[in-house]
Amino acid sequence: MYMLDLCSSFLEVQLNQYVPEKIQKRLINRRIVKEVRSAYENVPFYRKKYNEAGVDIKSIKGVADLKKLPFLTKQDIMDNFPENIVSDKEDIDKCHYSATTGSTGKALPFVFNDKTMSYYINTSLRVYTMIGYKPWHKAVYIKYTKVDSPNFGPFFRFAHVPSTISVIEQIKLIGKEKPDLLVGYASIIFEIATSVTAEDLKNIRPKMISVNSELSTKHQRNFVSSVFKCPVYDEYSTEETWMIAAQCRNDKYHLFTDNVWVEFLDRQGSEVKNGDSGEIVLTTTHSPAMPFIRYKIGDKGRACKDSCTCGNKLPVMTSFDGRADDSFILPGGKYVSSLKLLNTFTKYIKTHLNLIAEFKIVQEKKDLIVIYLVKGTQYREIFFKQLISDLYNILGESVTIKTKYQDFIAKNGSIKRKAVESLVRQGNSAMGMDE
Ligand SMILES: [Zn+2]
Repeated sequence: MYMLDLCSSFLEVQLNQYVPEKIQKRLINRRIVKEVRSAYENVPFYRKKYNEAGVDIKSIKGVADLKKLPFLTKQDIMDNFPENIVSDKEDIDKCHYSATTGSTGKALPFVFNDKTMSYYINTSLRVYTMIGYKPWHKAVYIKYTKVDSPNFGPFFRFAHVPSTISVIEQIKLIGKEKPDLLVGYASIIFEIATSVTAEDLKNIRPKMISVNSELSTKHQRNFVSSVFKCPVYDEYSTEETWMIAAQCRNDKYHLFTDNVWVEFLDRQGSEVKNGDSGEIVLTTTHSPAMPFIRYKIGDKGRACKDSCTCGNKLPVMTSFDGRADDSFILPGGKYVSSLKLLNTFTKYIKTHLNLIAEFKIVQEKKDLIVIYLVKGTQYREIFFKQLISDLYNILGESVTIKTKYQDFIAKNGSIKRKAVESLVRQGNSAMGMDE
């Protein structure tokens, strides 16, 4: 069944990018209506919320009507998962379960059904075909967990490298796999690029690199490109909705509106003017088991009305200015990606959802990392000790990690609180922290 879904959505997703703009718009409206209605009919959270807000569900006829609907926040999901936020029609035990720490430092669980998962895998694949990936290429992706995808023999060969191991171990694994395409979190690939030797580069010769999941600067991408001598493309995705936008070979970001509708809103909740920065609000179109409707992801981005000459008809956006987590520079100059630290927490939260209620990782001095921790309802010392030992494996012994237990972690008022922060002045733009 899963295999069938995977093959049929492959064609659909590949063709979507060539559908003329006018038809594109009609299809988007139809998908939005379907997702919103199914959310209202099958998901208790939406039914209750929309009834309370006096929404006439029949009046939702397309993207223009989305503004009639209240927002979905991360807190809503945490408060309502799973009973009230997963569709009544779905057998949760048959769903793909996942969880993220976002970058807020709180555990956020969610599920997809087989169909959604297949669709998402194909939208990922489209990110790579857009930049020249071919089915016979070998791809290596760096992620905190392995994505469960079937075996197609000599085609679509994907190998997984954990994002939560030390950079030396990562380089060894990548060298063994010899990828044509390398995919991973921007800061982790940057960390690898700062650590590979000429000897390593004899085995690691990718044709292209795709970086994801967080804001990468042009400087970082240029650096990675100069080390591996191949183009580096950026994409924008979230764990909850998967692909949102990806760069084509013209370096323009195409919005994946066949997967998720994106609003760019000002403080009053109105759409921002063309080219202005706005808060990104997402609506999924293929996630009936757990729809995300007007989901405040906590990132910002700029819309635009440009088009692109690459042949891809999906609309273009200018940039996104999200993810503000800091990466660390340790004594001796070693660079450590903030995502690597976050992923280590995510790995534990995925298997022990209530181990941690909230956390924040702060580099207080070059050699001192403090973890502010609010224990979860099922906190167990033994698992947390393992987590700390994983962190030492990543950071090395030149630092001390201290844990400070708290009742809560204060917010500093920004739209997205940093879960990883460095108080050490880096003062070194060569590390690519400044645009
Ligand atoms: Zn393009």
